[in-house]
Amino acid sequence: MSRSAHPAGPRHADVLPEGHYTAPAEDLNALDPKVWAHTVGRDADGVVTVGGIAVTQLAEEYGTPAYILDEADFRDRARAWRTAFGNDADVFYAGKAFLSRAVVRWLHEEGLNLDVCSGGELATALSAGMPAERIAFHGNNKSPEEIERAVRAGVGRIVLDSFQEIVRVAHIAQSLGTRQRVQIRITVGVEAHTHEFIATAHEDQKFGIPLAGGQAAEAVRRALQLDGLEVIGIHSHIGSQIFDMSGFEVAAHRVVGLLKDIRDEHGVELPEIDLGGGLGIAYTSDDDPREPHEIAKALTEIVTRECEAARLATPRISVEPGRAIVGPTAFTLYEVGTVKPLDGLRTYVSVDGGMSDNIRTALYDAEYSVALASRTSDAEPMLVRVVGKHCESGDIVVKDAFLPGDLAPGDLIAVPATGAYCRSMASNYNHVLRPPVVAVRDGAARVIVRRETEEDLLRLDVG
Ligand SMILES: *Cc1c(COP(=O)(O)O)cnc(C)c1O
Repeated sequence: MSRSAHPAGPRHADVLPEGHYTAPAEDLNALDPKVWAHTVGRDADGVVTVGGIAVTQLAEEYGTPAYILDEADFRDRARAWRTAFGNDADVFYAGKAFLSRAVVRWLHEEGLNLDVCSGGELATALSAGMPAERIAFHGNNKSPEEIERAVRAGVGRIVLDSFQEIVRVAHIAQSLGTRQRVQIRITVGVEAHTHEFIATAHEDQKFGIPLAGGQAAEAVRRALQLDGLEVIGIHSHIGSQIFDMSGFEVAAHRVVGLLKDIRDEHGVELPEIDLGGGLGIAYTSDDDPREPHEIAKALTEIVTRECEAARLATPRISVEPGRAIVGPTAFTLYEVGTVKPLDGLRTYVSVDGGMSDNIRTALYDAEYSVALASRTSDAEPMLVRVVGKHCESGDIVVKDAFLPGDLAPGDLIAVPATGAYCRSMASNYNHVLRPPVVAVRDGAARVIVRRETEEDLLRLDVG
């Protein structure tokens, strides 16, 4: 087992040591460009603006809580990934991070491809006009109906996740009189999170077919024999919120090793390799993510080097960033409801949303930052915990942060970097209505996912 640790300390996954909080920032009114969307700033009155619109105006028009998404920033980041990888590689946006029809259109316009992992995501992609050949279909338990729909639609690839699925997809494709392009997802024994990765011989998780014990090689052997399948490559996804490229290095080494074995055994050089997603973003000022062009350069070099050593032609690379594209582009706008100081401990700030619009803090102990958005303040910093309105003491949005000591009910606060895995993981817990997603660009705002209504809730409840 090899382990690589970052000098910043033992930060594993999204988890921080108990009781961790940093000192207050020098200026609580400052907005660190690392964690905020590109067009975010403050106007002359100190109100946070995005795309030229003040959050006070957005709150008035669309209510709170709301996810406010900077469309120009989304397009910039999508384009940066596309440009960084150029024409020799493909970028697939991971739809599970956040998917809506507007997002699908932006991706299409910016030349990206799209990963989906359910019938619902596929339906969203197709209904917004994403060409099927630019869609990849993922998942460890796709239903026969989902597979048939994907094959009929003509998706560019299905990523096969098990021995049973190899046969299932081959059978469905053949019965539809077609050959489905597929990749085989393998697990290479690399588990990567944030500043650490662990390389092992085995991986104990539900996704993919293990490289260990020759299982991945056997999967490729079987898939190559089936008429319904055209095997185009190998897929490997090693983790999430990764800053350190060394996990990808070990993964690429092992994937290329498999490609070499396949060539030696079958005389076939598979033309593609997909290295998955998982690239990290800054949730707080302590995080230092890499730029897409650095990541592209590093990944391309790793694969090229490994292939040269194995005397293989370099396969076409694809990557699947989700969080790294959409994560930083949105913030959640909340209204402060109650402010409760607990002597000698901290102040609890309750907002009008919570774990139903951001489950990541409860689920992963994720760290977020927060800023007073409707005004600036020179008051002394106070240590706060931003909590929601749910009947659950774990209903925490921001575990430890500093806000100005004069914070009061009616103030708007904003939590940045909530573009990924917040709306897409939102729930109706306590029958709270899921917030809208409002896209802002060049002084204009529009709702791309509307707020849920009580009518929506009651429509599902058929008595
Ligand atoms: C979740 C996932 C991604 C995207 O991960 P991010 O951390 O959002 O970049 C990409 N590929 C696969 C197979 C995934 O499961």
